[in-house]
Amino acid sequence: MSVRAQQYAARVLRREQVSPHLVRLVLGGEGLADFASTGVPDEWVGLVVPGQFQSRYYTVRSWDGAELVLDVVVHEVGLVTEWASRPDVVGETVTITEPKGSYAAPETAAWVLLVGDLTAMPAMARIAETTLAAGVPTRIWAEVPDDLTGYLPDGVEVTWLSPPDRAPSALAAAVEGIDWPAGEGYFWMAGESAQMRAIRKHLMRVVRLPSHSYDVMGYWRSGAVRQPRSVDPGPIYRAGRAAGLSEEEIWQRYDEAREQQEQQ
Ligand SMILES: Cc1cc2nc3c(=O)[nH]c(=O)nc-3n(C[C@H](O)[C@H](O)[C@H](O)COP(=O)(O)OP(=O)(O)OC[C@H]3O[C@@H](n4cnc5c(N)ncnc54)[C@H](O)[C@@H]3O)c2cc1C
Repeated sequence: MSVRAQQYAARVLRREQVSPHLVRLVLGGEGLADFASTGVPDEWVGLVVPGQFQSRYYTVRSWDGAELVLDVVVHEVGLVTEWASRPDVVGETVTITEPKGSYAAPETAAWVLLVGDLTAMPAMARIAETTLAAGVPTRIWAEVPDDLTGYLPDGVEVTWLSPPDRAPSALAAAVEGIDWPAGEGYFWMAGESAQMRAIRKHLMRVVRLPSHSYDVMGYWRSGAVRQPRSVDPGPIYRAGRAAGLSEEEIWQRYDEAREQQEQQ
């Protein structure tokens, strides 16, 4: 039996500059006819750009049955970065893998807190759309280099943080300063992997959140060298769920797999 994930060929229909560091790619075409969203608001797909075989992971900002929207952060260097920076990518064909999601707030969650950097903005925007529609008070801490006023849905309370020039991100300090709401809620966070590990420990040992009340994901790894190969979170996630692991345990496994990859 093949365990290969489903892949889709998608055409770039439009490319829009959302802000200096954020490019919106609208994908479509017949190749996406069978694409089906999981409905999980932080769902991601693997993206392979023309001339490459390595994939990078991007959140499905939206899928309306015909158009798939990905918001791609443009870094200083990077495989997808270099391709997405080109204004003439419209008409090119990319490969997309089937979506996977991780966000799992309990239905009884009375509040939702979301924390992340620019790469987490698409997921935070989509999560907030669903939580606000369900009437759940939602608060976001976003560390972004650009003015993204209007990117997040109306009604969400946002604290904007600017990324420090050379120092590490201030998101860990923001999490440590959170005045936790009373009652049962859900905390979701994504950003640089090394920082995420420290934050998981803080949630577990200091805030003492139960593991089903948070989801903290390493979205990228800092480093001067280009990542030789990325690790697909999909199989790790599926295997973890099948083994009955918690979200936290699954994402720890993912971080470990990425560390092993880098040491090879
Ligand atoms: C589940 C999931 C969902 C994601 N959703 C999104 C999304 O919606 N939008 C999005 O833009 N990204 C998202 N990411 C992060 C994205 O996959 C990585 O940032 C990816 O490495 C970028 O690929 P690249 O080819 O441009 O750079 P790479 O070739 O992977 O890396 C090149 C260099 O850039 C550095 N780098 C990579 N990412 C960053 C960063 N974020 N900030 C600073 N330096 C960086 C690397 O350390 C490396 O030195 C997601 C990741 C995961 C795991």
